[in-house]
Amino acid sequence: MKLSKLASEIAESPTFALNEEARLLRERGEAVINLGIGEPKNKTPIAAILASAAKLTSGEVKYTPPDGLPSMKKAIIRYTEENYDRLVAPENVSVTNGAKQSLFNIFYSILNPQDEVIVIAPYWVSYPEMIKMCMGIPVIVTPEDGTFTPRFEDIERAVTSSTRAIIVNSPNNPSGAVYPPELIEKIVKMCEKKGIFMICDDIYHKLTFDRNVAVPAYHFGKKDVENSPIIVVNGVAKLYGMTGFRIGWVVAPRVLTRVMSNVLGQTTSCVSPIAQAAAEGALNGLQSVVEALRLQIQNNRDIVMQEMRTFNGVRLIEPKGTFYALPDIRAFSNNSVEVSKFLLKKAMVVVVPGKEFGMEGHIRISFAGAVKDVTEGIARIKWALDPTSPNEIYVGDKKMIRDWM
Ligand code: PMP
Repeated sequence: MKLSKLASEIAESPTFALNEEARLLRERGEAVINLGIGEPKNKTPIAAILASAAKLTSGEVKYTPPDGLPSMKKAIIRYTEENYDRLVAPENVSVTNGAKQSLFNIFYSILNPQDEVIVIAPYWVSYPEMIKMCMGIPVIVTPEDGTFTPRFEDIERAVTSSTRAIIVNSPNNPSGAVYPPELIEKIVKMCEKKGIFMICDDIYHKLTFDRNVAVPAYHFGKKDVENSPIIVVNGVAKLYGMTGFRIGWVVAPRVLTRVMSNVLGQTTSCVSPIAQAAAEGALNGLQSVVEALRLQIQNNRDIVMQEMRTFNGVRLIEPKGTFYALPDIRAFSNNSVEVSKFLLKKAMVVVVPGKEFGMEGHIRISFAGAVKDVTEGIARIKWALDPTSPNEIYVGDKKMIRDWM
């Protein structure tokens, strides 16, 4: 069968593949712990439930404008004013099926074949694949060994005459790094000077710990929204734990928003109004739900750090945000894919290989879930890898003995 070469070369999303593997194992009765997927366990905020239920019971569930319901846009405009200190117009906003579609739409709308996009490692798995789907070339900038924050000079050095954009994700999936404001400022200035789009994937922007804050790029921008190279992507998946509602949005100059709206109109028509109503409810409702989630996640982060301290050989840079940690496992193996397979087979724990994020020799652990899963999951990883840990452990009600070292 003859298929598209471009589409056939796109890699499967490893997080979704692992999630499915974990689900199948659980169905077989195995005591699997999933530290793979980045999904908070909280229930949908009540304001979101009520708003979407009202939309549904109205019986008026029809197409909306391709770039979103006016009331949803209004909620996003208010959110942008409150959190970014920028007043934008409805013509700057487009609502999409998750932040994932926002990003795809941006790449599709700004790239010509062979255009380059700078991607900072470790990066979210989908960036390079999406860029390739849009005929662009991902150019990876890797930080110095032992850090997850890139050097500005390395970013600057990666710019060529074909560079169209840089994507910045801080707080960062998968490392939990929050880039310092000085770095954000330098990138903004570079992008303004050279006319390069700065795509800010802000999906975790309020999930920061201790005194760390993710300062928005707009804060350093000298240009108004219409002339600014800054494009902001956000959504309700992570901050409100509403992953299944599939609502993301883009704030961008009007010329770009118009093109993206046309793309939406010709592809998905619009996002379901039921989901849009839910997101609107979340944005207009009590914001203490976000703070409650942040505190719970910060507590999980503290537990991860505490458990990791007794893990011989593993080095971990403390996550400053998100709900991911990216421990360095090179003391055991350089092959993160093999280690991840081994952990699933022997210890029934799902983690994601660092290789998928451009950071071989590491594994990504999600601590978005229940404290019990996080602690037990790490205990199992220790048992499987660290010869100084006790060699017996219970996996479910099965007593397991380590016999491979
Ligand atoms: N960006 C990053 C960095 C993410 O981690 C994710 C989700 N894992 C997304 C975008 C996509 O979010 P959504 O579920 O809204 O599509």
